[in-house]
Amino acid sequence: MNKAIFLDRDGIILKNPGFINNPEQVELFHDIITFIKKAREMDYLVIVVTNQGGVGLGYITEDQLNNTHAEMLNQLEEGGAKIDAVYYCPYHPDAPDNYPDHAGWRKPNPGMLEGAAQAFVLDLSQCVMVGDMPSDVQAGYNAGCDLNVLVDRSLVETPYPHIEGYVVVADLADVATLIQMEDY
Ligand SMILES: [Mg+2]
Repeated sequence: MNKAIFLDRDGIILKNPGFINNPEQVELFHDIITFIKKAREMDYLVIVVTNQGGVGLGYITEDQLNNTHAEMLNQLEEGGAKIDAVYYCPYHPDAPDNYPDHAGWRKPNPGMLEGAAQAFVLDLSQCVMVGDMPSDVQAGYNAGCDLNVLVDRSLVETPYPHIEGYVVVADLADVATLIQMEDY
């Protein structure tokens, strides 16, 4: 079986979080390319799992979203960083009639991670979830990931006592160090 690092999109890969509707708004974080290369050296697949409820809400179209992701992948590949797949959840609870079949994909639900696990034959107990929101690490926990890391780039200590089984770090270099220390 394979192992993967799941990456949230906004706040981890891309700056300007929110409903990006134009590829020109795509701007990578400075540390993401190095991190993805390191992840691949450690034999992890790299899979993006992103809530894009703006689609369900009608703020952005799937075409706009796909264009944004094409630009993101393009910028990453220019830096030599390969992504294996991008999963997104178009469902939003404020528009429950749109994409109802995807409700289970919306983090903190584990649906995207479980879908990826089937498609890529992943052992989720060997996988790592990296995000900047409680819903990210909760999704990883719900999926049974071995390590769930919340990246708090502002380093403002924000405890989330209702979330189980996660670690807080300051940046992606710390995530890589953590994984290497644990020697997965
Ligand atoms: Mg995020």
